Amino acid sequence: MDSSPTQTPREKLEAWLRYYDDLNLGAFYTDRRTMGKRVIKRAAENAPAAVPFVRTPIAGATPPKIAPHVSVLPVMNAPSLFEAIDRVENDTLERIREDLGDCTRCRLHEQRNKIVFGAGNPRAELVFVGEGPGHDEDVQGLPFVGRAGKLLTQMIEAMGLTREQVYICNVVKCRPPENRKPEDDEVATCSPYLFRQLDVIAPKAIVCLGLTAAQALLKTKDSISRFRGEWFDYRGTKLLATYHPAYLLRNPNAKGEVWKDLQKVMAHLGLQPKKTAR
Ligand code: URA
Repeated sequence: MDSSPTQTPREKLEAWLRYYDDLNLGAFYTDRRTMGKRVIKRAAENAPAAVPFVRTPIAGATPPKIAPHVSVLPVMNAPSLFEAIDRVENDTLERIREDLGDCTRCRLHEQRNKIVFGAGNPRAELVFVGEGPGHDEDVQGLPFVGRAGKLLTQMIEAMGLTREQVYICNVVKCRPPENRKPEDDEVATCSPYLFRQLDVIAPKAIVCLGLTAAQALLKTKDSISRFRGEWFDYRGTKLLATYHPAYLLRNPNAKGEVWKDLQKVMAHLGLQPKKTAR
């Protein structure tokens, strides 16, 4: 286990939790009263669901696999252990953008065209967090406006919402060259601005699009199959990770799993699915 005298209490605790997780000791909290119900619920959730953001039906789609249930950070009723830590008093999105300025804090600034801060409703109940801008986003300065963005828009609309009603942002605000995955130090440098955005917006739910967002917010190195489609606690807000729309463009068979994830989010927000013409 990593340990150094310069670690903060929070870093030490996280290191211990990672260590226990590496030892496969399992989650620290299990609500035994709901364990039986969860099995029943997961079986019901596995029933085929119509996927509204699929334009053409997928022939011979295989039923989604159920990932083994391992909650790394289970949702609890009490506020998150870290909820009160690192909050900036009287923060606003404008102030965060100002603090970011013409950022040169990491190497991603070298090839970027525009900083992609985020867009949407500053009081959104639902925030989508992606990895980082791609080419189109870098040109326009707006998140998710390329091909993956068009699919995200369809997903949002299938939930009965519009892009203007939600907030969309990324872990890193500058495009990584060749759309590579952001490096750990780039994520570490940029993610405090994301944390502040989430604190200010204070949504009812956060949807992480893909591994990078989920790992940054859940502070884990686990693979997405460990936590996709499960609720977690992020500083007192419910957080769910699903596949990135870019992954869905390459793997359309996974759209059914994503739609089931989004339906969980809709149930939490009290949303009805948009009626689609058959
Ligand atoms: N992919 C992302 O993760 N974010 C964007 O803004 C666009 C594509």
